[in-house]
Amino acid sequence: MPTLGHLINGTRHDGKGRTQDIFNPSTGEVAGQVRLADKATVEEAIAAAQAAYPAWRNTPPAKRARIMYRFKHLLEQHAEEIARLIGQEHGKICHDAMGELQRGIENVEYACGVPELLKGEYSKNTGPGIDSWSEFQPLGVVAGITPFNFPAMVPLWMYPMAIACGNTFVLKPSERDPTSTLYIAELAQEAGLPPGVLNVVNGDKEAVDTLLDDPRVQAVSFVGSTPIAETIYTRASSNGKRCQALGGAKNHAIVMPDADMDYVVNSLTGAAFGSSGERCMALSVAVAVGDTAANALVDKMKTQMETLKVGVFSDEANDFGPLITGAHRDKVVGFIDSAETQGADIVVDGRRPRVEGAENGFFVGGTLIDRVTPEMTCYREEIFGPVLLVVRVGSMDEAMQLIDDHEYGNGTCIYTRDGEAARYFSDNIQVGMVGINVPLPVPVSYHSFGGWKRSLFGDLSAYGPDAVRFYTRRKTITQRWPSAGVRESAQFSFPS
Ligand code: NAD
Repeated sequence: MPTLGHLINGTRHDGKGRTQDIFNPSTGEVAGQVRLADKATVEEAIAAAQAAYPAWRNTPPAKRARIMYRFKHLLEQHAEEIARLIGQEHGKICHDAMGELQRGIENVEYACGVPELLKGEYSKNTGPGIDSWSEFQPLGVVAGITPFNFPAMVPLWMYPMAIACGNTFVLKPSERDPTSTLYIAELAQEAGLPPGVLNVVNGDKEAVDTLLDDPRVQAVSFVGSTPIAETIYTRASSNGKRCQALGGAKNHAIVMPDADMDYVVNSLTGAAFGSSGERCMALSVAVAVGDTAANALVDKMKTQMETLKVGVFSDEANDFGPLITGAHRDKVVGFIDSAETQGADIVVDGRRPRVEGAENGFFVGGTLIDRVTPEMTCYREEIFGPVLLVVRVGSMDEAMQLIDDHEYGNGTCIYTRDGEAARYFSDNIQVGMVGINVPLPVPVSYHSFGGWKRSLFGDLSAYGPDAVRFYTRRKTITQRWPSAGVRESAQFSFPS
């Protein structure tokens, strides 16, 4: 059985010591092992990144961009193989994996524009004969720590921009599905990155702690669950590092009485159950305003869900695949059990799906739960499974209050035909990414991605323009070339 190692200083590194099983969640079988890097191995990767930094920092941005163009081309050339690797270890259906990769590639495209993005700011004659400019310098060695649910896309949110800005990078992917991540990093290498500019260490807490504590690491980008995001942010910032830590979510859609219910049901189905609900932007709560809207939503959704196909990743006819592990499947089932015990109405029950030929896969079918109330466990916590909750409220204000009171603030959406209601909603709701009749308002690569409240710790969002700011440090230079006459008249106060 293969054991996946690391990528350090441009070459595969087998590593030694602890390993962890990697599953094929569609079959429930162990497909391989991943090496869990110890402190010394992570330090080796940091040292490689540190050594590569001076030359990379001084490489012209246009040359760095040219490597990104080649990288984009290689990602497109190898898309099918990447989608297969994602599906095999994550379980998402190949068409969904291709979609994930495409969103990742868009971040590489954005990084191709780095010479333009790094032009800086310039002011002539800020005083007599004085010019002033701000330039955006790279930070040095930067680390990224990524979750299992987007093994291709989330790392691509990070290192293309970090590297294009002149930093060197150490990536610690999820240990649950690391193969596609490593494969993609090797394509970046093939595109022309010098050794040490991008390093990948597989591992768990030991590897992460080493990155957080090492003084050579200047900044940390993290994406994962909120409890870990908070710990990472606290530890990295107390060590003096710049940190952005994106966490979990509970994304609500308000369904107004005037909404086009067929459209709502169609778009909610994809947004709630796509990728088995293992998306930080999955729409997991529908807040129906009024019983008429709620009844129509539940009836139509129930009918629509009869057509949902759950199954193995390799069958393109399936809508979504298994959950990532048996333990996670049990956790999701536990949330559905708790909803039932606490008095909610299980309208469609996906706890025991029959998937012919893949009986040991980690499957949960699409589940619809009505009459959920805010104190229920299934409402308070992020389920991260193919489960859609329906909460019934009496007014739009009540719906908005519910969303504002939730600890998470990643994404949200309103379904309505009323422009004024939509405008009021987007203006006032305490959530970072808002959709108006768009259930998954994931920003494109030339905007930035970030939630509010406990969905993001730090000041800057991921990718896009915020990434330029996160991965660079502003330096402002004020310049004068004095004449001999000026040198004779020293000034001791600010000019008035
Ligand atoms: P996770 O928090 O378990 O793991 C994320 C990363 O942290 C992994 O690389 C893991 O190895 C590492 N890690 C785990 N425990 C650690 C510990 N104790 N100390 C140090 N490092 C540790 O998250 P996950 O289960 O891989 O991913 C799913 C979660 O990620 C969900 O909560 C989802 O909402 C969130 N997510 C958020 C976004 C976003 O943009 N906000 C995007 C994708 C996923």
